[in-house]
Order: sequence, then C-alpha cells, then structure tokens
Amino acid sequence: MRTQEKQQWVRERIVQAEIDKYIRDDGRDYVDDASIRDLLRLRGTPDATQVRELIAKALEIQTLSPAELSVLMRVESPALWEEMRAAAGEVKHKVYDNRMVTFAPLYLSSKCVNNCLYCGLRSSNEAVVRRVLSQEEVRRETEALAGRLGHKRLIVVYGEHPESGVEYMAESIRTVYDVRVPARKGIGQIRRVNVNAAPMSVAELKMLAECGLGTFQVFQETYDRRAYAQLHPAATLKGNFRWRLYAMHRAQEAGIDDNGIGVLYGLSDWRFELLAQQAHVLEMERFCGIGPHTLSFPRLEPAVNTPFVDAPTWRVSDEDFEKIVVLGRLAVPYAGLIITARESPAMRRRLLPLGVTQMDAASNVGVGAYADGQENQREERQQFVLGDPRGLDDVIREWAQMGSITSFCTAGYRCGRTGKCIMDLLRSGAEGKFCKLNAVLTFKEWLDDFATPATQAVGQALLQKELAEIQTRQPQVWDVFSETYRRIEAGERDLYF
Ligand code: SAM
Ligand code: SF4
Repeated sequence: MRTQEKQQWVRERIVQAEIDKYIRDDGRDYVDDASIRDLLRLRGTPDATQVRELIAKALEIQTLSPAELSVLMRVESPALWEEMRAAAGEVKHKVYDNRMVTFAPLYLSSKCVNNCLYCGLRSSNEAVVRRVLSQEEVRRETEALAGRLGHKRLIVVYGEHPESGVEYMAESIRTVYDVRVPARKGIGQIRRVNVNAAPMSVAELKMLAECGLGTFQVFQETYDRRAYAQLHPAATLKGNFRWRLYAMHRAQEAGIDDNGIGVLYGLSDWRFELLAQQAHVLEMERFCGIGPHTLSFPRLEPAVNTPFVDAPTWRVSDEDFEKIVVLGRLAVPYAGLIITARESPAMRRRLLPLGVTQMDAASNVGVGAYADGQENQREERQQFVLGDPRGLDDVIREWAQMGSITSFCTAGYRCGRTGKCIMDLLRSGAEGKFCKLNAVLTFKEWLDDFATPATQAVGQALLQKELAEIQTRQPQVWDVFSETYRRIEAGERDLYF
C-alpha cells in the first residue's frame, strides 16, 4: 500500500462527533483525575467493620464505587487481606462456580500504524517481521487451533493498519467460523470468536456485529492522561486518549453488548488505574445499563527491541499484582476476570483461587504461529514474550487437579444470553446453573476428542464429581441432562442448554 493511501486512511479514522456526543456538558470525560487523586491522598487504615461491609456488598454481587474501592486499597492488616482474598474466591464461586473458561489468542496481523512505546509491534520497531495473514493462512491457523488442540473459543488480535481494517476483520472472522476439522470422535470447530482490536467507529462496529463476534475487547492501557500521552505519540491514531475512552460506548451503540476492558499494568500507578477503571465500569453501567463482560489484567512483558519494558518506572510486583486481582474481583463481582499466558505458570496457580474465570492456554502471540509450530517461534515474530508456554492438555490437567472444570461453553451468546440478559443472570447466580451443565458437556467433548490418557483420567474423575453434584442440586433437569451427556459420550457434538 502506498504511503499516501495509508496516510489518508489514518486521517479518516477518528470520527470526532463520536467522541463529542459522550462528553459531559462541562467538557469533561468520565475519568475525573482530581477526585481520583483526592482518594489516593487519603491516609490511615480503614476499620475492619467498614472493610467487612464492603466485602459483604461484593458478595451480594454489587459494583463498588471508586471511593469504596479506595477503602479496600488502604487495607494494611494481613488478616483483613486474607479475608478479602477468600471473599474474592467466594464471589467467583457464587457467580461462576468452579468453571475456568479457556481460549487462545490468534494474531492475524502484525502491521501497525501506531507507535506504542511498550509494544513489539510498534511501527518504529524494525526488528519485527511484519505479516497480514491471507484467508488461506487464517484457515490453516484455525485448523491447528480447533483440530490439533481442540480450542472452541478464540480471541482474534489485529494491529491497527489499513491492510487489516474492518473489512479484513469481518472476512477473517467468517473464515474462522467456517473451519471444521475431524477429531477423534467429533468435529473440531471454533464456536466463539472474540476480538481485540483498536477502537472503531459505530459504522465499522456494526459490520463486526453482523459477523457474530463474541466479546469486543479494547484495553485503555492507562487511564493516566500524562502517561498515556508519553507512551502514545500524539501524531498517531492511538495518541487520541478520548477516542479510546469511548470505544465501548460506540460498541454498545453498534449493538455489541459483550464488551471487555482492561489496563496494561506497569504503565502508571496501579492504584490510579484501578480507580479510573472503576469509573469506566460505572460509566458503562450508567450509559447503557451493562457493565463490562470481562476485565483483563495484562501485565507488561518483555518484547524484542523494546527498551521501555526493560525498566518501567511503574513495574508491578507479584505481590501488588495479586492485590490488583483481588481488588478487581471484589469491585466488579459479575465480570469475567481474565489472566493471560503473559503470566508464569507459578503466578497463574497463585491467582487462580482469587477469582479468575478465564485463562488462555497453548497460546502464541506471533502471526502465523500455530500452523508453523512452536519450534519456529522467534522473538521477532511476537508482540511480547509469554510467561506460560505450556500446552493446553497440561494446563487443563492442572486446573482439574486444582478442582476447576475447564469450560469450552459458547452457548451463551448463541442463545442470546448476552449483554443485559447475561448481566442479570450473573448477578442473580442463575447463569451458573446453565453454565455448569454446559461446562460438563463441553469438557466431556474435549476429553473424548483431544485429551491425553493422563488428562482423561484426572478429567473423568472430576466429571464424576460434577455429575453427582448436578444430580443432587438440580434434580429437575437431571433426566434431560443425563440423556444429553449420554449422547455426547456416544459422539454427538455441540449440544447445549
Ligand atoms: N492493536 C490493538 C490495540 O492496541 O488496541 C489491538 C491489540 S494489541 C495487539 C493487544 C494488547 O496487547 C494491547 O492492548 C496491550 O495492552 C497489550 N500489550 C502491548 N504490548 C505489551 C507488552 N509489552 N506486554 C504485555 N502486553 C502488551
Ligand atoms: Fe499497535 Fe496495538 Fe501494539 Fe500499539 S499496542 S503498537 S496499537 S499493536
């Protein structure tokens, strides 16, 4: 593509009217820096009664205000932190039971017009090999993910570039949905495609909505305007802080109601980030009655030829990261909580009991990485370096040993349980009932089609426990459920409640 055409594309991307319409009458956006800084200046440890009241509020699956969240942040007593950690696990259990949803990222393009200082794919990084996959290559990647590994959910990831604009995104999502691969007993296929991409206009988002995407994710990276300006050059598209701030408002207007937000931890003070993210959550609830479907917790990782990540001022320690996850879990109790393979196996084991609901596995963050094989992965092809390189089978076996059932369920959005509907179900705990049934069915499918004998043994033992629990706790559905389970065992696929 010629430079002129690229520049023209960049010039036309941001629709100023689709920022201005959301800005308040006083010209401000929803991140009120001064009030957040005031909360951060408060000193003194909160008393135990107040902390326990807030824990109780989270356990009633109610969103905390930034002021309430700041109270929990100021807790110093190790005993109270222990109560908060336990409550975080309990909140997850109440809303999501012992399910762990799994997925894989699928990078489709590494060309990007932006120049984010922390990212291996930034335009000025000449050490990276650039590629935009053809539809045939997208098909091959999907075959590897759905056929070899047995994934059912993907998050497709794109750099921001005219060669991977919205038409390309829509076409590649259709390609992914189209793939069918024979498996041991059934068929491997991707049933839910989520998207992580740059902010888009309402018209573009409508095009994505039409191809049946699952969750639309945009991370703000940092809500701290000063840090944002330093990390994202003003002359780039991503330099526009407010275009990104209202990405989810536009998604809602386009009819996409499962939306994921997140902070890239390590770019600024994590306490500021969490409070500002909480303002974002409340703004989403105010704007359309639906908070975020997921909160992601990416933490800065090394990337090839990217000096910024070697010594960031705001590096987040493991201890603080654990606190961030506990606070995030309690602050937005209904949201899915995603910890990616950026984290090491040890860190993922440590975070799992604190309320994590989704983790990826067997992931690659290089374009074309799955079909080419792990052995061909080099730093120059990746956005950053992953902390957990284990295979899906190993990870699923470990989760099962820790008492978590891996769910490949994708029924929710296919049955219209999205947006406000799913939010109400999650808050009331009713969603857990459908999801447990679907988790058992999809776990059974995966064990039969893809697991090694060692994982089958551990998984089957867990399934027996789950089946007994369903029979006792949901006797009204047992007959129809056990018949469906039997049909899956016999080789039928994609049956769900
Ligand atoms: N280009 C789009 C954008 O920036 O919104 C889409 C996704 S980008 C490929 C995915 C996410 O990776 C970014 O939103 C950022 O949070 C994260 N990321 C970038 N560099 C990273 C690094 N060095 N370590 C960990 N995560 C990183
Ligand atoms: Fe491009 Fe996204 Fe990387 Fe920024 S974070 S350079 S926008 S791929």
